[in-house]
Amino acid sequence: MAEKKKRLHMKERSVAERIRDFQEVPLGYTPEEAMEEAKRCIQCKNPLCIKGCPVEVNIPAFIKLVAEGKFEEAAKKIKETNALPAICGRVCPQEEQCELKCIIGVKGEPIAIGTLERFVADWERSRLQPSPPNPLSQSLDFARDKRERGNPRFRGMSLLNNNKIPYYPSPSGRRVHSQY
Ligand code: SF4
Repeated sequence: MAEKKKRLHMKERSVAERIRDFQEVPLGYTPEEAMEEAKRCIQCKNPLCIKGCPVEVNIPAFIKLVAEGKFEEAAKKIKETNALPAICGRVCPQEEQCELKCIIGVKGEPIAIGTLERFVADWERSRLQPSPPNPLSQSLDFARDKRERGNPRFRGMSLLNNNKIPYYPSPSGRRVHSQY
């Protein structure tokens, strides 16, 4: 019987390097490492990992896309239910959630679901204009803009401040003023 592949752990920056700044210590996966780790997933028919995820990301589906090198599609799959994969891939306690339920973890180390999620989000951010989380966020932007266009308070604020109000980009790319 073929030996099962071990979980691929992220490489880390050297101590000599990381004591000089406050940048992240783990380096994340390379595309090749992500594909290798994703291939450990056995695509369970009854994927318990999804049950362990608070937002029910379709974990086997996005992992399959990673294994095939379809990173852009994987990002879209995650964003069907999770708007913040770069953050969740870093701070979610996967060892108590999705990875705790992963069937591969019964006899070995579970699939590195969180690290794969982090990889996909970072890859998308570095290569593409990130896709919006889901259509609902755009509907909310539209509803807010519509409400504010008819609201003299907001119109007046823009005129009085000569559009110098600080703003932040929303997920749909619209300008969102900080006073809202
Ligand atoms: S439980 Fe583990 S092996 Fe099964 S689909 Fe989820 S990540 Fe893959």
